[in-house]
Amino acid sequence: SSPNIVLNVNGIEVIYNHVILVLKGVSLVVPEGGIVALLGGNGAGKTTTLRAVSNLLAGERGAVTKGTIELRGERIEALTPSALVQRGLIQVMEGRHCFAHLTIEENLMTGAYTRKDGKAAVQQTLDKVYAYFPRLKTRRTSQAAYTSGGEQQMCAIGRALMANPTMVLLDEPSMGLAPQIVEEVFEIVKDLNTKEKVTFLLAEQNTNMALRYADYGYILESGRIVMDGKAGDLANNEDVKEFYLGVG
Ligand code: ATP
Repeated sequence: SSPNIVLNVNGIEVIYNHVILVLKGVSLVVPEGGIVALLGGNGAGKTTTLRAVSNLLAGERGAVTKGTIELRGERIEALTPSALVQRGLIQVMEGRHCFAHLTIEENLMTGAYTRKDGKAAVQQTLDKVYAYFPRLKTRRTSQAAYTSGGEQQMCAIGRALMANPTMVLLDEPSMGLAPQIVEEVFEIVKDLNTKEKVTFLLAEQNTNMALRYADYGYILESGRIVMDGKAGDLANNEDVKEFYLGVG
């Protein structure tokens, strides 16, 4: 594949519990430095696609049964999630999954567990995360359980950043958040993309918001990509307007 493609998902099928075919041949590419949105309604297969890429399906009794997944030209279907983190790819899971009993800073530090470049480098990344998420710095000694939904989402993204990723899979960052907070989170994602050159694949039901920040989008319906295009073209497409905009 061409060298500027970070992620190349080619015709993957995913089956749950040996019987339920959920992805029916999904293909997509994410270029270096891009923000690509994976759109679609509830149950379309967005989370499943991200989990297939980061190899988190096994715990859900799911498996990729067809197709290939390449990260910078390397086949990754057989790599463990931590091997993928070592290669710079990390997933921020839907529902945030902060450790409720740990402080914000302790949560962030758990994200650095795979790093081998020493304390000073990790501290530098922590300072950077705090620079991008000033709210997290304010709340650094608070137990995650007592922080807001927005702060927990920021914590989940910040924790992923502690691994120094080059590509982040972001699952429904807008879920359960007030519109103003969603915007705040997306602005930071955009900033990370522009200034830190982090590439994003973003699963979202909030089509409106996602297309404002993404460069390119794919629309999933019942496990198939039914449309793809530049974000601006999708936002102006009559079918997209009718079926997806104003819904999210
Ligand atoms: P959502 O926004 O609700 O997460 P989604 O587009 O991310 O939607 P998926 O979560 O990928 O969709 O789900 C796709 C389909 O796979 C749905 O029909 C769902 O019921 C089914 N599914 C998801 N996880 C499992 C599982 N562990 N076992 C069986 N079926 C599953």
